[in-house]
Amino acid sequence: MSEFDLIQRHFTRATPSAALGVGDDAALLRVNIGMELAVSTDMLVSGTHFFADADPFLLGHKTLAVNLSDMAAMGAQPRWALLSLSLPEVNETWLQQFSDGFFALAQRYGVELVGGDTTRGSLNLCVTIMGEAPQGAALQRSGAQVGDDVWVSGRLGDAALALAHLQGHIRLSAPEYAACAPALHQPQPRIALGLALRGVAHSAIDISDGLLADLGHILECSQVGAQLDFAALPVSATVSRYLGQPPGKQCALSGGDDYELCFTVPSARHAEVLRIGAQLDLPLTRIGKIVAGRICIVHDASGNPINVETGGYDHFR
Ligand code: ADP
Ligand code: MG
Repeated sequence: MSEFDLIQRHFTRATPSAALGVGDDAALLRVNIGMELAVSTDMLVSGTHFFADADPFLLGHKTLAVNLSDMAAMGAQPRWALLSLSLPEVNETWLQQFSDGFFALAQRYGVELVGGDTTRGSLNLCVTIMGEAPQGAALQRSGAQVGDDVWVSGRLGDAALALAHLQGHIRLSAPEYAACAPALHQPQPRIALGLALRGVAHSAIDISDGLLADLGHILECSQVGAQLDFAALPVSATVSRYLGQPPGKQCALSGGDDYELCFTVPSARHAEVLRIGAQLDLPLTRIGKIVAGRICIVHDASGNPINVETGGYDHFR
């Protein structure tokens, strides 16, 4: 099969909202009047971000999901994507399942694939995502203010616990692994939450490298500090079983791959956030507050500071 047949067969679908989609030298896109284009790209490398034998359907999902998560964090409505693939071989079954996983999620969020690039090489998946937000309305990392509450969506640590199990660092029972694995393999981008937080949150980020690392980016960009309440962290029954010992504690605080949103909101708007959570049927949990200074302190239930690895994943450390 030629490169062009491959693109035609697996990666060409209708793109009604683009002026021109796959097939020319460039796609043509019309951004709505009064909107800003939010653009972001994320690369998934075999052996680093996923195992080479990963389920292709789930990989297609995750490749797009991690990019949609960036749109969620910006409060942007995702619209178009580019997909650049480097593949060691043409495996029809693999490609079909990968593209099924990718398009199933794309369709759910009204995202159209408008182009990409396809080459031979070691397995590498790169998506560029484009979305829209009204001018000046996108959520940023730099807006946190002293007096804001710090919130997170969903539950933290499931993905990292599942990964720790796969890597042999802990041993989960079969039902425990089954409970955690979807968070690792099929993260759900919090698009609706990001949109609802426009005009409500002062700052936001998606948690891809661990809560402390990613909240750390908000603190640095906003030049503030934070106090967190360890007991308030939203965790699943499985993660809570491992919280007292490593790697359970690390999973909730600095485990990666959660793809939940961490955001800050003035404390006077507390009820509004709870209302958004109820509307979206998504748990939103207040885990601490923004304070002056530049450091992040995590307190245990008796108010003593907890010593934590702030780490987060860094490819070059
Ligand atoms: P060029 O040689 O001009 O770079 P290509 O041959 O790389 O063009 O691509 C042909 C068309 O197919 C372009 O519109 C490109 O955006 C699209 N395309 C290539 N690879 C992919 C892919 N993996 N997914 C979606 N579209 C793709
Ligand atoms: Mg090309």
